Amino acid sequence: MTTAGKLTTAELRALDAAHHLHPFSDHKDLGVRGTRIIERASGVYLWDSDGNRLLDGMAGLWCVNIGYGRTELADAAYRQMCELPYYNSFFQCTHPPAVQLASAIAEQAPAHMNHVFFTGSGSEANDTVVRMVRRYWDLQGQPERKTIIGRINGYHGSTVAGASLGGMAPMHEQGDLPIPGIVHIAQPYWYGEGGDMHEDEFGLWAARQLEEKILQVGTDKVAAFIAEPIQGAGGVIVPPATYWPEIKRIVEQYGILLVVDEVICGFGRTGEWFGSQYYDLQPDLMPIAKGMTSGYLPMGGVIVGDRVASSLIADGGEFFHGYTYSGHPVAAAVGLENLRILRDEQIVDYARNEAAPYLQRKIAALAEHPLVGQVRGVGMLGAFELVSDKASRERFPGKGAAGSLCRDLCISNGLVMRAVGDSMIMSPPLVIQPEEIDELFEKAWRSLNMVAEQLS
Ligand SMILES: *Cc1c(COP(=O)(O)O)cnc(C)c1O
Repeated sequence: MTTAGKLTTAELRALDAAHHLHPFSDHKDLGVRGTRIIERASGVYLWDSDGNRLLDGMAGLWCVNIGYGRTELADAAYRQMCELPYYNSFFQCTHPPAVQLASAIAEQAPAHMNHVFFTGSGSEANDTVVRMVRRYWDLQGQPERKTIIGRINGYHGSTVAGASLGGMAPMHEQGDLPIPGIVHIAQPYWYGEGGDMHEDEFGLWAARQLEEKILQVGTDKVAAFIAEPIQGAGGVIVPPATYWPEIKRIVEQYGILLVVDEVICGFGRTGEWFGSQYYDLQPDLMPIAKGMTSGYLPMGGVIVGDRVASSLIADGGEFFHGYTYSGHPVAAAVGLENLRILRDEQIVDYARNEAAPYLQRKIAALAEHPLVGQVRGVGMLGAFELVSDKASRERFPGKGAAGSLCRDLCISNGLVMRAVGDSMIMSPPLVIQPEEIDELFEKAWRSLNMVAEQLS
């Protein structure tokens, strides 16, 4: 056992390769290329084990909304661990942190959403969605309403149910997914799939895929539609302006439940508390996680609207569902402190009024670069897509090779961005300052120029 003393980078890499299976990784390739070891972080910066400083343009995995190094969250966790490190909320029990966090979240959520069911992650939240949607329709006396409609290239987590709701083909292929009762429609990805259609027209077309699917499955068989306000893992895909209003019309017309996956958009990412507020949606369920604790501890949940909550409560009977760590007191205490900081420091207002407008101006300017075919973004989410020919939208050969190259060059230039295919995506901490945004885009430009050189 190597427990004492600090390990060298080489020792850590060797042990990592010998014992650690990473999520979403090609293990063979990882063994060859070696891993980057992140040792510490502060504000919007990370430091690796070789002492390199990286600007974190992704806020970890879209989650560190208040930035790194907030000791208040550590103090909240310490106090709660001393007071009550664990207790459950099964069997008629509860505890102060879960109660307070549920009520604090309900305060920020849309007015008709007043309850929270806690989970350990976003994936678990979406498992809860499947259970709760089916329970709801059973309670309505319509047990044949089982089918949930998701979207191709949507992301709702990696558990069996989460990956099924999502529409990631490589995940489906490896897991014999989706499970029965989950079907998918096209995504509102105009730049990639809109062809010659005007963006508004394409938005309506994509939304009406939902109506077609409902009619195809049967109006009395569809239980719910699930979507992210803006697809995150799919490549920061911002839907055309016509998309959400038409989805709202269809959901209302057919009376199905609307599930808006707020795991990324929640807690300020769009400049509003929730993406549903940005797009003026009235969801029945909102899965949350990520920004809920700013990633300081794992936690997720489902915010439940009155339509479903009142049925669960009034119709009675036990809902046989929950997790040992639902509402975990330490995670809840950290979540509560995270919310306090977001509110007291008016971080969502800062994002909406200052950081996001500046970030979006900088993203828009990237459209001038010869490699950039499209830029898109909302709030503190942004993307730019690499093409070999702007007019024809032709991509570089090698399916995502240009994106991977750009990502690697960004890292060597001290910037973490992610590549989804040839889309470069960003989602920095909400607290990022203007001069740090300048640095982010300087590094992005420099990396783009290097990509252009290497690909020409
Ligand atoms: C990350 C993510 C999830 C899954 O959350 P985990 O905490 O990784 O399980 C679900 N939905 C969306 C939209 C996500 O971005």
